[in-house]
Amino acid sequence: MMRQYELVERVASYIAEPDELLLNKAYVYAMQKHGEQKRASGDPYFSHPLEVAAILTELHLDEETIAVALLHDTIEDTDATRREIDELFGEKIGKLVEGLTKLKRLDLVSQQAKQAENLRRLLLAVSDDIRVLLVKLADRLHNMRTLGIMRPEKCRRIATETMEIYAPLAGRMGMQDLRDELEELSFKYINPEAYSAVIGHLEALAEKNRSLTKEITGALERRLKERHIDAVVKSRQKKPYSVFRKMELKSLSFEQLSDIYGFRIIVPSVEDCYRVLGLVHTDWKMVPGRFKDFISVPKQNDYQSIHTTVFGPLSQRVELQIRTREMHEVAEYGIAAHASYKDGEDQFAESKAYASLRKTIEQLAEGDNPEEFLEHTKLELFLDQVFCFTPKGRIIALPKGATPIDFAYAVHTDIGNSCIGCKLNGKIMPVITQLNNGDEVEIIRSESQTPPAAWESVVVTGKARSSIRRASRQAVHRQYSALGARMLERAFSDAGYDFVAKTLDTVLPRLARRSVDDVLSDVGRGEIRPRTVIKSLYPDFEMANSGLASSANQLLPEIPETSGNTPGEQGKTIPIRGLRNDLPVTFSNEGGAVPGDKIVGILTPGEGITIYPSSSSVLSNFKGAKDDLLDVRWDIDVKNRQRFPARIKVLAANLPGTLAAIASVIAEHDGNIQNLVMKVPVEDFTEMEIDIDVWDLSHLTSIITHLKDKEVTTSVERITG
Ligand code: MN
Repeated sequence: MMRQYELVERVASYIAEPDELLLNKAYVYAMQKHGEQKRASGDPYFSHPLEVAAILTELHLDEETIAVALLHDTIEDTDATRREIDELFGEKIGKLVEGLTKLKRLDLVSQQAKQAENLRRLLLAVSDDIRVLLVKLADRLHNMRTLGIMRPEKCRRIATETMEIYAPLAGRMGMQDLRDELEELSFKYINPEAYSAVIGHLEALAEKNRSLTKEITGALERRLKERHIDAVVKSRQKKPYSVFRKMELKSLSFEQLSDIYGFRIIVPSVEDCYRVLGLVHTDWKMVPGRFKDFISVPKQNDYQSIHTTVFGPLSQRVELQIRTREMHEVAEYGIAAHASYKDGEDQFAESKAYASLRKTIEQLAEGDNPEEFLEHTKLELFLDQVFCFTPKGRIIALPKGATPIDFAYAVHTDIGNSCIGCKLNGKIMPVITQLNNGDEVEIIRSESQTPPAAWESVVVTGKARSSIRRASRQAVHRQYSALGARMLERAFSDAGYDFVAKTLDTVLPRLARRSVDDVLSDVGRGEIRPRTVIKSLYPDFEMANSGLASSANQLLPEIPETSGNTPGEQGKTIPIRGLRNDLPVTFSNEGGAVPGDKIVGILTPGEGITIYPSSSSVLSNFKGAKDDLLDVRWDIDVKNRQRFPARIKVLAANLPGTLAAIASVIAEHDGNIQNLVMKVPVEDFTEMEIDIDVWDLSHLTSIITHLKDKEVTTSVERITG
């Protein structure tokens, strides 16, 4: 552990007369407060704030910042108080330490969705004094360096947050080295496989190229010496994460990247920079399109350098960065390079990086409006995300293109599964609307909802997609078992037995199914015949009614006279609710069926039941197995009224306005036109088939009557297929 005097010496190496008293007092106070506390690694806790302070001395920060670094965990982790720190070290340091304490508390609750809020508060805290952020970054750097002891999933979470928030912030502040190290450390935990693969490649490459690198360095140094330029040439180590990112972003192979050699040439003056540039461009051919002059046009974070790429002595590509020593310091330390040693914050103001960060922060502090904040930061920090809010103000981070359905699943799986609609910023909107930054999303729910399978292709988050798939698979299974149970009830009762699902337990091996539920759903799917189930329980059962149906005449008399809501029939028939009910039911697409119709179901194995009005010719022409014809009855849910499909045929005069007149009669009487087909006109007449959704038979009848009353219509009749 660094001794007290060593820390003072470090600071004294860049500050002429440092405030030794302050440094010593903070060192002793923090050491005493942390006392016997240990880190997860078993090291004394005090080693952590001390290392954080050491990192900040490398950035040449002032004594106050170093003292804050030493004290940064005392309020949170020891019995130290803000008041005590104020009394001992002054209010300024007390405030900074408190700022860091608040940030630390945020770390503890951090989850992906809370990151935006974290960042927001982080930046707000910084608006008081940029040094809070510098200490926080050093704190995070040391924690990342010593992260390995934590549980893997915790490592991953912290590494992800570091990658998404702290590394970009360091970059924005122009602290390139810090950013690189944070990224490299995070990369190792976020994607260990990729990390070790890239490291392996890089090591093999370094081994292979050791002599080549030396050769290029030597060649550059010789040329510069010949022209009397006092320069330092350094070969640049490739960073695993930056290699990985280039491979990902530009889809380059490792081989394509590996023929690039990076060198940095550091010279005393700006004039020297351009002399070096002229020299390398004279001696070696430049690679077109790679030259950038960040000296005459510095980057927003103050970065200055000349970048160029040339074909080196052996025709390999050599990337060069040419800069002065001062520029180099700014590139490494960023904002910190502008830290004044005696006067604290004021000199930060000279840095452009600070000015731009400061501007962000001020906009933030003014409008405490989350949308504005997000507008501003998303550009650089969260390029691919949108941030939306629950009505209670919780932030939900989603990928771009996300819908309210994704939002609902991000909040909770149950909310996604029961989502039937949404309000965006107070207005009812389709659930497939793309969300924008700052949208407030309220999910409208119904417990009887099952997410439509079609949503799967609308959503963009993996969580929503897998939840929808699971829910619809379960719903389909539930539907089929319910149908199977009803079919068995009916078949058992016809055979003179009582159906008790539990008794199927004893015959599972005989039916080659694993559970009663599997039997039920396979009956519902048409994969097991009800009579096979009866036979498995009652081997003596004679399948008198089995065999193929030869004609509807034999069948139809068995269909109860009144398939309406007759209480007496309830035990025998299968209640049908509609499209969104608990059975896999569809309606004849040759004319539909509406409540009030006598109906019969045809079971199509694997697909469910299709409902036909008993007058439909599909039934009289049915040639399949008798078991596949089902007695069904309407079971209308009064609370969830629902429309049903029907088809009518209209013969009308072929006059202008005929179609409009017909459509308006249907609309006036609350019919909903789904489809309209015009048949070839016969002389002066037009025949059309109209599919309409209606509430029930009497509704349909009244529409037909009103259509007949119109002068333009010649005949109106219902079609049932
Ligand atoms: Mn800490």
